[in-house]
Amino acid sequence: MATLPDGKLYIDGKLRDAAGGATYEDIGPWTGEVIARAADASAADMDEAIAAARRAFDETDWATDHDKRRGLVAKLVERLKANRDLLADIARHEVGSAPGATAMAQVDGPLGFVHRLFDIFDSIEWEKPMGHSTLFGMNTTRIVVKEPIGVVGVITPWNAPLYITIGKVIPALLVGCTVIIKPAPDTPLMSAIFGDLAAEIDFPAGVINVVTGSDPVLLGEMLVTDKRVDLISFTGSTGVGKRIMEKGAATLKRVFLELGGKSAAIVLEDTPDFAMAVAQSIVCFHAGQGCATLTRLLVPRSRYEEAIAVLEHTYAAYSSMWGDPEDPANVMGPLISARQRERVMSYIESGKAEGARLLAGGNVVTDKGEGFFIEPTCFVDVTNDMEIAREEIFGPVLVVIPFEDDEDAIRIANDSDYGLSGAVRSGDPERALRIARRIRSGTIGVNGGLPIDVDLPFGGYKQSGIGKEWGLEGFHEYLATKAIGIAA
Ligand code: NAD
Repeated sequence: MATLPDGKLYIDGKLRDAAGGATYEDIGPWTGEVIARAADASAADMDEAIAAARRAFDETDWATDHDKRRGLVAKLVERLKANRDLLADIARHEVGSAPGATAMAQVDGPLGFVHRLFDIFDSIEWEKPMGHSTLFGMNTTRIVVKEPIGVVGVITPWNAPLYITIGKVIPALLVGCTVIIKPAPDTPLMSAIFGDLAAEIDFPAGVINVVTGSDPVLLGEMLVTDKRVDLISFTGSTGVGKRIMEKGAATLKRVFLELGGKSAAIVLEDTPDFAMAVAQSIVCFHAGQGCATLTRLLVPRSRYEEAIAVLEHTYAAYSSMWGDPEDPANVMGPLISARQRERVMSYIESGKAEGARLLAGGNVVTDKGEGFFIEPTCFVDVTNDMEIAREEIFGPVLVVIPFEDDEDAIRIANDSDYGLSGAVRSGDPERALRIARRIRSGTIGVNGGLPIDVDLPFGGYKQSGIGKEWGLEGFHEYLATKAIGIAA
């Protein structure tokens, strides 16, 4: 079993226990066993963290001294990189990341590209001279300035916590905000380490605060309803995102929401390596616990049976290629928790009840110990009105839907409350691009292209969210705009 450090709170520049020394069990998804304990913060702890972040923003030079900030955040990034092996251990044992997933989005991906955020930071136009104007007889010299929005409540999910925390916290700190990180109860250690490392660097007290807790709602809702918090930067489910918007309305809080998805991959009949494109569509990376995972596969009716045969073969071959925590090529491990496994199983039951045909998987796995495993699962003969086609399952479940022609494929892809990502493949790149332009989603890949990168804005249309992470847009989420008029 892993030996991971227990998680502490980091509040007002101090690493400390929760009030009264309360802790809770951090359960490892591979084994179902306790892998560490984490501080179980109370409302009083969160109140202190909010007060500290407010003070650091209002009363120190954090918001105004760009060079000092840049230097300290660069040190934090260096410390994160130096702790790569510990982060990989946390990803594996706490998040349930398989080695192949750790090497990509879970750890080595974000650590490998985080430095590029500094180049984007350097490109921010902080002041824009707007020249002179005479309006209503008044001569004015005008400038438009950008300023940090203030105190940011960072609320994160459990599926890719390092990637998501870096994507929020580094831009927020760089532009001069102060932050309170509130991770999902299932993954406290991946946030607690930000506090551990900030303490090593002597960040000014209150600039970074980390508050972990077992209650999924209490601490986050405090951030959302407290008027001392200026912005909520949230990644999580659409249901909770809606609640945050509703609760945040009382203080007219700015909310930045990265939510769920039910993204479609369209493989057109002229795709050169049709079988390969279909085979690559299986949902396995991190057991399908990814917001931008392409969980609806749309294939042409004219090649539907062929696609099903490819998938049947692929799933059979894949059954021996996942679930090994030591295999560097393995990208699929367990689900995060027993609760999530039950949730996914209830969708699998719903698919069967609605008349979809289970082509592969569909079972809880018991021969891998007490971890939270479900077989890679594929439903065919799915119609887009079924629950398994409409709702985000967040597990290793692919649904396959046939389409008649390009218009039908576009209609089905867009017939969703979500609009996070998507993909189109065709032998005719113009045709694929034409279709991609008509899909109502925030990102989309064409013929295998990757629409996600540090300098590309990421975020959903429709009920997949409001706002953009990464890219220059991801910095602007944390900025306020002020117009200044000076008598000329
Ligand atoms: P979740 O919505 O259940 O929880 C997310 C976070 O919100 C957790 O920290 C939780 O404790 C907190 N929270 C819960 N109720 C709250 C409330 N009332 N007020 C304030 N905070 C509250 O999501 P999850 O199950 O942890 O993560 C999975 C979800 O995250 C999926 O829907 C997935 O699509 C989404 N996600 C989206 C993106 C994206 O970039 N769009 C990325 C990763 C995950």
